[in-house]
Amino acid sequence: MKKIVYVDNAATTPVAPEVIEEMQRYFYELWGNPSSLHTVGQLAKTEVESARVRIAAVLGCSPKEIFFTSCGSESDNWAIKGTVYASKNCKHIISTAYEHHAVLHTMKSLKAAGYEVTELVPDADGIISSNAVEKAIRPDTGLICVMFANNEIGSINPIKEIAEVAKAHKIPFFCDGVQAVGHLPVNVSDLGVNMLSFSGHKFNAPKGIGGLYIKAGTRISNLIEGGGQERNKRGGTENVPYIMGMAKALGLAVSKRDDNARIRAMRDRLAEGLSRIPHSRINGGMKDRLPGNLNMSFEFVEGESLLLLADMEGICLSTGSACSSTSLEPSHVLLSIGVPV
Ligand code: PLP
Repeated sequence: MKKIVYVDNAATTPVAPEVIEEMQRYFYELWGNPSSLHTVGQLAKTEVESARVRIAAVLGCSPKEIFFTSCGSESDNWAIKGTVYASKNCKHIISTAYEHHAVLHTMKSLKAAGYEVTELVPDADGIISSNAVEKAIRPDTGLICVMFANNEIGSINPIKEIAEVAKAHKIPFFCDGVQAVGHLPVNVSDLGVNMLSFSGHKFNAPKGIGGLYIKAGTRISNLIEGGGQERNKRGGTENVPYIMGMAKALGLAVSKRDDNARIRAMRDRLAEGLSRIPHSRINGGMKDRLPGNLNMSFEFVEGESLLLLADMEGICLSTGSACSSTSLEPSHVLLSIGVPV
């Protein structure tokens, strides 16, 4: 088979062999339903709770504040709709123009339901300032929603500063942490966010497993009703093997964090080389940026053609978020930071 150069890790990552090995036990041996009261069920429950403890330790919160979901999109939907529906006074939401579609489209449906949404525009580096957030606050603002790191340009927002503004105005703050968790140190208590989403397949766990940190005391209604799983907040029998795989993958990601300096250096070398191509440009700032992210435009070359040509050489990249890969529209992220298209 031709050698594949996979540089599309913001879309998804391969499942780590250690994670596959870890998950096997939960298909073959500990396959019980954690809600069952018998021994087989309770053995599975003990394992799920141990995964919750380990994930909470990495994220700096209590295990009671971690809820397992089916993916990052579910976590985003739950945090946003759940907070808005649980609030009597919320008529207005502050978000950004360059969120992932899981957030953007949730905002769209809330707008259709009569809520007003202010979509803040990032600066040319792709950063949302806490000042801009504060200026947009109204008496009826019931939620602030700003992503940690952008999935296309990798820009990293001043989440702690935004959380301080939110706290000062007593407004719940949800942060989409899907691109950050597993790649950057994320301590939710230190950051001061009320909710933060994450997704296993961005850090070498399988697709179809995610989670939501919900700070104790946050008012949030349920998105998925069902049995009493996840302390009555999220119905659905727990995906035990994938939860265990995600906990394992997060532990591995933390142990490999030293790799960030190496990854950043390789990324910078690539950027330097590609920048020598005439009419090329780097999109987004290089300072506050995910170490493994590079986003470039090449004038007079159509993105899709470039992608297909690279693919023929065994190089996997993308022209925007994977969820909108079939759309020929210019990326909403690049438009938001003013890249000429
Ligand atoms: N939020 C961000 C920033 C993402 O990058 C993604 C996935 O690309 C998601 C949410 C959705 O996560 P999932 O694919 O697990 O639904």
